Amino acid sequence: MKNMSLDKKRLANMVLKLLKDEYQSTGPFLDWTNPLELLVAVSLSAQCTDKRVNEVTEKLFKKYKSPLDYANANKDDLEKLIYSTGFYKNKTKNLIGMGKIIVEKFNSIVPNNFEELQEIPGVGKKTAAIILSNAFNKNISVAVDTHVKRLVNLIGIVESNNVEKIRLSLNKYLESKNYAVFNEYLITHGRAVCVARKPQCIKCVLVNICKNNRD
Ligand code: SF4
Repeated sequence: MKNMSLDKKRLANMVLKLLKDEYQSTGPFLDWTNPLELLVAVSLSAQCTDKRVNEVTEKLFKKYKSPLDYANANKDDLEKLIYSTGFYKNKTKNLIGMGKIIVEKFNSIVPNNFEELQEIPGVGKKTAAIILSNAFNKNISVAVDTHVKRLVNLIGIVESNNVEKIRLSLNKYLESKNYAVFNEYLITHGRAVCVARKPQCIKCVLVNICKNNRD
């Protein structure tokens, strides 16, 4: 069991190095200039492309600049503005709830704490990890999204569909300074080469170490 864990740790770090060499840099995927904007952009990115989120937030951020603006937002106006990101009713409810809790509980400042961030409607561990690493330079956890979940299983770094198990395993295998970039490189690779409908293994820099090709 111990050796298996060591192998997976080595594999995770080899993947990181190979993807770093391949892509050099990643992102930024979303446009933002402060923690509140990042929080809003990440909330809108659920089931939506980053390109579409950036188009929407370009207008949104001109009108809504503070947590109070979201807390006091007119539901219909906000729904109309974010409609094209999908699931707009739920996202609107979360954005207004987000504004309210930040105003009422956090003194109108986006919290920079993993647990407190998760008190905000719609914010789970994945979003909290992204906010902390990008907006506050705090590396608390790998953010496990659909790309990360799919690729780490294909490659063989973890064998689980349980997001929490994946998150804890990756946090153990990687150095904390690499938590954010690991997520970003896997997203980049999942979009460019290891695409969900048909992974392009023939073009993949991970072909010699990927479980999908070792079986
Ligand atoms: S070898 Fe194929 S399955 Fe494995 S990471 Fe690359 S593209 Fe994905």
